[in-house]
Amino acid sequence: MNRSPLIRHLGWIFILAVVVPGILLAVIAVRSIKREEAYIEKQLQGTLLAEVTYLVSLVETELSRIKRELTGSAPDSASGDPQSLLEDWRLTCPLVGAPFLLSTRFEILWPRPESSLSEEERSFLRWNSDFLSNRLKVPVFENIALAYQDQIVNRESDRGEKKVKGVELQQAISSFEMSQAVQDRVYEQAREKGQSPEPRTVVPSVNLAGQQEQPPPSIFVSTELRLAEITAESDLGLVPRFFEDRLALLFWKKLDDGGILGCLLADAVLKERLIALLSEVYTPVRILTLLDEQGRPLFAPQEQTLRDYRRPFVARELSALLPRWEAAAYLTDPQIVSSRAGRVVTILWVLISILFVSILAGGTLVLKTVRAEVSLARQKTLFVANVSHELKTPLTSIRMFAEMLRGGRQRSAKKSQEYLTLMVEEAQRLTRLINNVLDFSAMERGEKRYDPQVLDAAELCRELVESQRPRYEQSGFSLELRCSFPAEEPANGAEFAPENRPAAGMRVRADREALRQAIMNLLSNAEKYSAGGKVVEVVLQPAGPWLVIDIMDRGRGIAPTEAKHIFKEFYRGDDSATAGVRGSGLGLAISRRILRDHGGDIEYMPREGGGSIFRVRLPLVEEQ
Ligand code: ADP
Repeated sequence: MNRSPLIRHLGWIFILAVVVPGILLAVIAVRSIKREEAYIEKQLQGTLLAEVTYLVSLVETELSRIKRELTGSAPDSASGDPQSLLEDWRLTCPLVGAPFLLSTRFEILWPRPESSLSEEERSFLRWNSDFLSNRLKVPVFENIALAYQDQIVNRESDRGEKKVKGVELQQAISSFEMSQAVQDRVYEQAREKGQSPEPRTVVPSVNLAGQQEQPPPSIFVSTELRLAEITAESDLGLVPRFFEDRLALLFWKKLDDGGILGCLLADAVLKERLIALLSEVYTPVRILTLLDEQGRPLFAPQEQTLRDYRRPFVARELSALLPRWEAAAYLTDPQIVSSRAGRVVTILWVLISILFVSILAGGTLVLKTVRAEVSLARQKTLFVANVSHELKTPLTSIRMFAEMLRGGRQRSAKKSQEYLTLMVEEAQRLTRLINNVLDFSAMERGEKRYDPQVLDAAELCRELVESQRPRYEQSGFSLELRCSFPAEEPANGAEFAPENRPAAGMRVRADREALRQAIMNLLSNAEKYSAGGKVVEVVLQPAGPWLVIDIMDRGRGIAPTEAKHIFKEFYRGDDSATAGVRGSGLGLAISRRILRDHGGDIEYMPREGGGSIFRVRLPLVEEQ
């Protein structure tokens, strides 16, 4: 038979339409799962960086506030005794640590080395006298993006647009922060100018998998300046001062007479004010704190003392006034990224597996359905051919014998009788076939009606066997019927002959004609498929609530691979057709349907010593 190319290539279509897209989907999903950890980490980094940036802006604001407080509280002119003037200032403003007063020519008016000084004042002088007397240059820090803003923004804003200073500054900072190329270029220029930025105190993790080992360069570069240069362009200011790697802030303010007044800020008070900015240091996700120039946290939760504070999750440098200080955030639980990612990955894996399995299952189901439909369509076509043939053959014989009888050519009465018998048999076969086809179509439409009544199954079988026996015997078959009644067997263990059976024990509720047809189909098969061993037995016996009828032959039997299909509609064993056995493929399907409709069933069992057993079960009617 010609099959469409689509159907012939169903397997390939299944692979291309289901398996390949399924596998591709799985591969894509697995790849995106792998990126999940990096994605979660990036998200967390973004959130924490926003917090850290906010903290940096709070510190900037606080420094401005501190500067204002110092300016406001400081006297504007140096009239009277400098010592008491400075002492008063110190008393009014707690931020004032070690105050000083300079003349217009940078002579130190206070603290004076020759007067009796406290230990604190002496150490102040030791560290600061050179700087305050304008002899020593100190580093003054500036954000590298501001120092090199012309180089950063030049190319972009050189289009004749009007330059706005504040906007330009912001532009320079964001271009610098966002582009690694700009950073590299600017650092290179700074290095060429001898302004190498120092390494930062911390090593922020760029990502957990590949942590940076070297601290990155600071965003602040310094210029060495004398006090005169520092104070030249403004009236007041703050200058960071390092003493043996310890940072202090120095405030200065020009007085009305041109002298300079200032102080080192009280370290403890400054730190206290900055710590006060940390509203929530510790959350279940992160620890947020400020680090001093040594990389030590200004404030840390007690239980976190063992942490390596030089390796924050994200960090930002604080201010040009507090070089080497950092605002830093740490993961409370360093495993949080992998465990969060792990959870998401597990969920994704489960989803992907479900998806993949359902694609495969759905595809397989569709494939199976299509295959089944295709095979059914083929069987139906075969069925039409079979039935036409089946109808034609008995009709041809009936016509042939009838014509012979009509022609009166056959004088022998015995022969005529034989022809008539053959004609009846062929007509019976025709009837059975037509009944099967009609019944099947009624069953298909759900219109098959039964007329159930309590009947004696042994009686029915006996009738059937007796009516068929002559025909069977004529074609060399022996047909036997046995009924066994285990509960009421004769004392000598022999079986009852059917006619001597006890009345009770074989009653079933069934449609007589339908049951006849079901058993007749089995008997007819036993004959059709037993070319060799021509013995057919019908054995009835009650088994619990069931009546069991075994129809047994010594024919060719059924291979296990075929056995599971024989009850399907239109199914014909492979060699049935080739062996020239006539049939429609409906007999067993109809028999099973009838028996199931009666609450029973039918099954096939291979028979020991060769042949088949078809076992029919029907519910017995309870004896009154
Ligand atoms: P048909 O006999 O018209 O082909 P059936 O539905 O009655 O259709 O049987 C289906 C198939 O089961 C047969 O084609 C045959 O291969 C197999 N079969 C049925 N009964 C027997 C039997 N008694 N011995 C061997 N094969 C059988």
